[in-house]
Amino acid sequence: CFCQVTGNLDDCACDVETIDGFNNDQLFPKLKALLESDYFRFYKVNLNKPCPFWKASSHCGLRDCAVKPCSPSEVPQGIRSSSHNKYSAEANKQLDECERAQRLGAVDVSLSDETKEALLDWSKHDDEAERFCVVDDEDSPDSQYVDLLLNPERFTGYKGPEAWQIWNSIYEENCFKPYSVKRPLHPDSFHGGSGGEARTFYSWLQGQCVEKRAFYRLVSGLHSSINVHLSARYLLEDNWFQKKWGHNVSEFRQRFDSDLTAGEGPKRLRNLYFLFLIELRALAKVLPFFQQPSFHLYTGRAEEDEKQKEQLLHILQLARSFPLHFDETSLFAGDEKEAAKLREDIRLAFLNISRIMDCVDCFKCRLWGKLQTQGLGTALKILFSERQIEALPLSSGQRPSFQLSRQEVVSLFNAFGRISTSVRELKNFRSLLAEER
Ligand code: FAD
Repeated sequence: CFCQVTGNLDDCACDVETIDGFNNDQLFPKLKALLESDYFRFYKVNLNKPCPFWKASSHCGLRDCAVKPCSPSEVPQGIRSSSHNKYSAEANKQLDECERAQRLGAVDVSLSDETKEALLDWSKHDDEAERFCVVDDEDSPDSQYVDLLLNPERFTGYKGPEAWQIWNSIYEENCFKPYSVKRPLHPDSFHGGSGGEARTFYSWLQGQCVEKRAFYRLVSGLHSSINVHLSARYLLEDNWFQKKWGHNVSEFRQRFDSDLTAGEGPKRLRNLYFLFLIELRALAKVLPFFQQPSFHLYTGRAEEDEKQKEQLLHILQLARSFPLHFDETSLFAGDEKEAAKLREDIRLAFLNISRIMDCVDCFKCRLWGKLQTQGLGTALKILFSERQIEALPLSSGQRPSFQLSRQEVVSLFNAFGRISTSVRELKNFRSLLAEER
């Protein structure tokens, strides 16, 4: 089966079979349960930001592209209202600062004054320079809560020139590629043609340093994951009394079969596994942040919040126990000055990709595109903040040197949940393809 990807992944010593076993049997079921909890299902996002690069039509008329935002009463009070006044009178005087601090996601509402001060200090800290993606302004009247469980990522019918323009600008302009090297964009360029474009592109890619190759593979892995999802939750039946969603094997084959993609399909699936490894590594590294006593998955229901935090820590411990982690020390290992420049180039390119998401015409695709790029951006921020994470204070009251906002936490776990689900879906497609034979 073409989707039976096997053996070691390039640039790392991990084999695909180990990932399959670990994800499908251990991680996926636990992650799925966590993502159904209130803390993780409500994501605040601005879907109305204008496209900063070209005039997007923003008039996607496809029914399945619609996103239903939450009414305020649907979102738990603890999530919705950062000014829920459990602070001291003194702290309330600085409500604005406190609100910003509370949004950081790691706020215990009954903190000591000392801790509050530390958080207020932190809220003044500008961490823009560490970010790999643009974070929506949560205070904007255009930002709304969306229930991710009610707006699942699935087939929407978004395709054609608009969708290609997005993928094209992501690959063409943000993957460090010289203009003389054309990436084969449309499947037609594989068929009928000599395949010369594809050959030139992939030999260029092979000649790139490991960091740039890794960047391309992350983007390609994300692209694969989106296309696996739309094939797994395809609109199979649509009539006046029902809509039926399910696996569309021929859609999947069209996108990933080696013969139909001139050998590219299986490589793209390998990139999905690569993305899995990178995000898994970030989860393993960020454990100390979530272990801080001051961190709460705050929804306002103390008992449930505590239980979910335990679940989350359990998942992170599991991520740590994975035996074949990607070794990110192989990245940016050369000359210090060059490595710093390369890191900054990659950060800026990724920042740009997160801006392109505001150009996606289909709102449902925009929602999940934004969430997944933000999640991956957060994973990269974690991987590049190892020292700050290690230096995190063990007791509350000290100023933390590393922070994640609630938006970052929610996107990190949901983005990884998407990749984990894609890996699980490959198993389903394998069985369906075997049944066909
Ligand atoms: P596309 O997937 O548009 O790909 C364009 C070209 O890129 C291909 O011809 C191929 O040469 C190359 N390519 C394809 N996959 C890869 C890969 N993994 N790595 C490298 N190169 C590749 N549609 C939905 O139904 N539901 C969604 O939720 C959804 N979300 C989207 C989110 C974003 C951000 C974007 C840009 C698009 C989204 N789409 C979604 C659309 C979907 O991804 C496809 O663009 C669409 O289905 C058209 O597919 P296609 O076969 O024309 O090729």
